[in-house]
Amino acid sequence: MAESCMSCSGTGKEDCIFCFGRGKRNCTFCFGTGQDNGEACTFCFGRGKRNCTFCFGSGEEDCSTCNGTGTDPFSNDWDDW
Ligand SMILES: [Zn+2]
Ligand SMILES: [Zn+2]
Ligand SMILES: [Zn+2]
Repeated sequence: MAESCMSCSGTGKEDCIFCFGRGKRNCTFCFGTGQDNGEACTFCFGRGKRNCTFCFGSGEEDCSTCNGTGTDPFSNDWDDW
């Protein structure tokens, strides 16, 4: 049996570092104001927020330590040999 990954507690997921797990980021075009020269920003439709493009709005990424498997990549089962 492989150990659970320490980084993600075996979930295989970790908070997206770009949106801090929120899944949304401030629109970089209007700096989160939702306004563009007095009109609704066309990039975020006036919301001021956009789905994070790195995690596609989920707020999660595959754990970089275990590549999303949830198991500790450093604990190999040597009995297989
Ligand atoms: Zn915007
Ligand atoms: Zn994200
Ligand atoms: Zn992990």
